[in-house]
Amino acid sequence: GRDLAGRMITVQVSPDDCTGCGVCVDVCPAVGSDGVKALDLRDVLPRREQERRNWEFFIGIPPMGRTEVKLATIKGSQMVDPLFEFSGACSGCGETPYLKLISQMFGDRIVIANATGCSSIYGGNLPTTPWTTDRDGRGPAWANSLFEDNAEFGLGMRLALDKAGEEARMLVLALLPQLGQLAIDILEADQSDVAGVEAQRERVAELKERLAGIDDVLARRLESVIDGLIRTDVWIVGGDGWAYDIGYGGLDHVLASGRNVNILVLDSQVYSNTGGQASKATPRAAVAKFASGGKPTARKDLGRMAMAYGNVYVAQVAMGSNMTHTVKAFAEAAAYPGVSLVIAYSPCIAHGIEMATQMSHQKKAAESGFWPLYRFDPTRAAQGKPPLVLDSREPSVPLEEFIGSEGRYKMLTRANPEGAEELLELAKEDAKDRWRFLEEMAGAGA
Ligand code: SF4
Ligand code: SF4
Repeated sequence: GRDLAGRMITVQVSPDDCTGCGVCVDVCPAVGSDGVKALDLRDVLPRREQERRNWEFFIGIPPMGRTEVKLATIKGSQMVDPLFEFSGACSGCGETPYLKLISQMFGDRIVIANATGCSSIYGGNLPTTPWTTDRDGRGPAWANSLFEDNAEFGLGMRLALDKAGEEARMLVLALLPQLGQLAIDILEADQSDVAGVEAQRERVAELKERLAGIDDVLARRLESVIDGLIRTDVWIVGGDGWAYDIGYGGLDHVLASGRNVNILVLDSQVYSNTGGQASKATPRAAVAKFASGGKPTARKDLGRMAMAYGNVYVAQVAMGSNMTHTVKAFAEAAAYPGVSLVIAYSPCIAHGIEMATQMSHQKKAAESGFWPLYRFDPTRAAQGKPPLVLDSREPSVPLEEFIGSEGRYKMLTRANPEGAEELLELAKEDAKDRWRFLEEMAGAGA
């Protein structure tokens, strides 16, 4: 593109880490005259040695700097090294692309509180972990806690970081006579973007050197909390079993806290890691463990509940439906100076779909009204606009077409056609109700 004129891009697959899920082939839009896509799956054995050499060369290419690209765009975010690499998730898992994206957009400045669930298993399959560092040694700091306290675990991280920052700023002020202009620059730093954070890192590095030469107990105290001067974002991550069910009390407490944390719910609509038990996020009519006759009740609308607070940023995203929307929502969530909640549609092997098509399948989820995309930004109200932006078009695909393409619904149609019909009608009402609510909110005015 024009912003990176003269540079070239290549896509290189690691032959020893590719699971052969086929998702990249499915989403690749470039088809040659022979009908073969630019990305295609081929037998690895005859190509492995060559591809290993290509991979070694590829990882030796100097990485793109985070300030060289626009990280809040698809292209820009995909030009920087991911700090979430090869995980042990199921082949084609719908959750991991969101984590990779977060690591690319914000990975050098985040701490992650990860609830128990699939993401804590493939994210912390110790002694290995897919979370990694960039070539400067920076990367997400990650820790796992229980289903029932992960939101509070993340809130505690926020409070500790805020306290360290507060203490550090107080000490910088106290040392102003010795530090002069450097102290003022640090205290007045604008860290709202990547360049601002980088500049603050350089100032703090200089401060460390200066402090070493200052014989004062305040300087020693400042050294112990000095990193609190650099912006660190907290992401609280987990699945629907955590967010909608077992950890909901804590999540609600954090939603109400007003603190600057970002919450990402990887919504696979079922307890995936323990084998597919129904959660409150499981949609009506879907078959799951503990809902073998099809879930009789509607799924809980976590987004609507969070919006009711009025001061929480809420987005519902589906990467495969609209990648630009997902990137935008992540960027807005990170920038929002309060609690933000992003609910991410995450296809799972428990849904009974061909996982190679999980990204394109997400398009149908949005087009059928099953998973409307939206962003609720409380700051828009101050500009006289409705806080909710409905980013999906009115449903154009019949819900039964979407439902009929998933094994979790088809099982019921085979076992109990009448019951399935009844639940399908109710599921259609659920979708209509959701759509009406969002339409009203989007047009309601401030
Ligand atoms: S998307 Fe799947 S098939 Fe494509 S490179 Fe990655 S692991 Fe391999
Ligand atoms: S069980 Fe589902 S959510 Fe868990 S890793 Fe597999 S595909 Fe992903």
